[in-house]
Order: sequence, then C-alpha cells, then structure tokens
Amino acid sequence: MAGAERERRKMTLPPALPLATLIGRELRAGGSERPALRYGHAGFAKRGEDYFLVKPDCLRVPGDPSTAFSVFAVFDGHNGVSAAVFSKEHLLEHVMSALPPDIGSREDWLQALPRALVAGFVKADIDFQRKGEVSGTTATLVVVDGFTVTVASVGDSRCILDTQGGELQLLTVDHRLEENVEERERVTASGGEVGRLNLFGGQEVGPLRCWPGGLCLSRSIGDMDVGEYIVPVPHVKQVKLSSVGGRLIMASDGIWDALSNEAAAKSCRGLPAELAAKLVVKQALKKCGLKDDTTCVVVDIIPSDHHLTSPQLSPKRNQNKLKSLLFRRRSHSSVGKFGGKSASIGSVEELFEEGSAMLEERLGRNLSLKAASPPSRCAICQVDQEPFEGLMEENGGSHCSSPYAPWGGPYLCLECRKKKDAMEGKRPSCSTACR
Ligand SMILES: [Zn+2]
Repeated sequence: MAGAERERRKMTLPPALPLATLIGRELRAGGSERPALRYGHAGFAKRGEDYFLVKPDCLRVPGDPSTAFSVFAVFDGHNGVSAAVFSKEHLLEHVMSALPPDIGSREDWLQALPRALVAGFVKADIDFQRKGEVSGTTATLVVVDGFTVTVASVGDSRCILDTQGGELQLLTVDHRLEENVEERERVTASGGEVGRLNLFGGQEVGPLRCWPGGLCLSRSIGDMDVGEYIVPVPHVKQVKLSSVGGRLIMASDGIWDALSNEAAAKSCRGLPAELAAKLVVKQALKKCGLKDDTTCVVVDIIPSDHHLTSPQLSPKRNQNKLKSLLFRRRSHSSVGKFGGKSASIGSVEELFEEGSAMLEERLGRNLSLKAASPPSRCAICQVDQEPFEGLMEENGGSHCSSPYAPWGGPYLCLECRKKKDAMEGKRPSCSTACR
C-alpha cells in the first residue's frame, strides 16, 4: 500500500477499538474477568418429583482450572420420578459429549454450546425412552461461564435473570399448551389433539392438555406414552451480563404459579443466595399453601472484586448507569437467529436465542465451527456409522422403510432420523411399529 494511501485511510477509518471498549477494559482491569458464584436452593415437593443439580466445578479442559464453568438445573418430574432422576444423572454428560472434542477457545466452546444442548436433550430423551418407563420431566439447565449464561429448557421450570439495576429478563419460554399458542399450533399440526379434560356431562375442566396422554406441557424429556410431538428440543438463550453481574432464579412451576417474576425477584433482593432461595419458596407457600413442585435454585454472579458482598446489597445506581451505557455494544460472536439484533436489555447483551422445535433449524445451521465432527458421526447420539451400512441393517425389513430423503441438517443415524421424523409428525402410522 502506498504511503499516501495509508495516511488517507488512517484519516478516514474509525479507530480499531471503540472508546467504550477501551473504557470498559479500564474498568475491568482492577478485577479478574471471572466472577465469583454464590448459590443456594430450597424447596418442597409433596410427591418428591422435583430434583435439582448444582455442579459448580466443571472443567472445559481437564486439569485446567482457567477453563472452569458451572452448571445448575431444575427437573420437575411427572408420572413418577425416573425421568427426572435420569435427566439429573445423564443430561449434562450427553450435552458435553455433543461438543466437538478438540474445540479450541472459550469463545468457540460457548458458540457450540446451544447446538450441543439441543443434541444432548434429544439424546437424553431417546435413551430414557429406551428404558420403557412412562414418566416425564421438565428440564432447565443453566451453564454459567464467566459472565456468559446459557439456558436450555423444556417444560415450564422458568429461569429469570435479575440484574443489579433491577431489570428482569426471562431466559426461558413456558412450554405450556394453555399459554403458548405457537406450541399449540405446532402440536396440532403434527397430529396431536389439544383440549381440556372432559367430565361426565361434557363439562370441560382444567388447563389445555394434549391427547392421548393428557399432558399440559408441549415439551419434556421422557413421556413415551404421549404423542411424539411432545418433543425434547429445548429453547436456548445465551446472554452476557455486564461486569456488575446479576442473579439467576430458576424454579419449578409451583413457585411461578404463586409468584410473578417481579414478585419472586423482589422478595429476595438484598439477601445472599442461600437465604434468597428459601425466601422465594416461603413467599410462594404463603401465597398458595403447600403445593407440589416448589423447588428453587438461586445463583448470584458476582464480580470477583466484590465477592464479599452480594451484588444485590449495593445498588450504586450512578455507576450502573455509566456501566450500562458502556456495555451496550454489539456482539462480535452472534450465532443465533437474533444474533444480529443484539437486543440489550439494561446492561445484558443477548448473544443467542432460538426456540424452534425443528431439528433442521437447530442442528443444521451455523456449522462454521473449526472442529467439525466426522461426516458419518450422528449429530445427536455421537455414534459413528457408515451411512450405507446403517440404512441396510436398520431399515431392512422394517415397517417404515423411510425414504430417507435428504434434509438440511447434519448426518443422523437411522434411529435419530426416525426420532426426528416422529417429532415432526411425519410418521403417524408407524410410530408404535418402529419403537
Ligand atoms: Zn443417532
């Protein structure tokens, strides 16, 4: 490049780093990038069908503490405990095994996580259904890595984020037929019947349910006795908190039936996480009496230079205003449907959100990862298989000699292909023959 040209560019191009980024770095320079976590849980479950998971010390790279992340989850079971217990024990391992093994940077790992969550949830569902048990469960799995929070959820165990400025963000979607029109339409389009319980005399009672089975949820893990359009494909949302941190409150529906998001958040502001969880449950019980499914996990993400106090204790309002202005910047790693939008609410940066039940949309896009899987490894169950061999052995003589039409997604083994088609209502006549 000629010297004059270089000079001209220097004059006209914006500086490589925006001022806000530079000031942001200055602000963070005093403390470490990684926040401290404080957490607590509380709950009652009359029938004992609620489970939760707290795993604060996971490592992305074995033996390297700088790659630490934490996982929290709530499982609200129905028709027995086995699906909730199974999910508590195996869901995380299925998600982790769906991440490319030699993934390099933290950034790549976080970018691959939404897709791995989808594969892991579906794999857990397939594995559990193999056991032939009828129970089902909601699952809300939260991965906290630094200030980045990724939430995957099926069912109605909601997770909210309370930022220090007092702004609330819902990180999940309630997969309830009664309230979720989109899900109702999806279930009906896939061949399910949606209606209320019919008493003798034709009187309709209770919330909208899906028939056969009578489940009020449109997504879950397990539930092999209901239609396969009740799918395990999670809504996934990934956000990055500003360096002031925030509080996550995740809980089963007994809490949310009694308390609004605002009421739950407000009831425990200023208290440390352990007490906060207890207080949320107490408030819910006070409002509705002893009910099932009131499990609550509270996680505080606290800037490490403030870790001796709860972030909820020191509002520092003016500083917040300044910081929220500084941290409303575009994401450079957006991968999701709304990635380009970078919708900031308060000082929270939205990195990814996708809730479609179609696996093609969840597994088939954003394959720009450096560490790609082998071409014949199933993107859901991670089993290596020769495509031709799989077709011959598994499909020969079966009732549903599926056309195995090409699809827009990555390679799936035959079993996972069948599962995908069934979830989309594409094999209504042989759903039992192929199980
Ligand atoms: Zn598979």
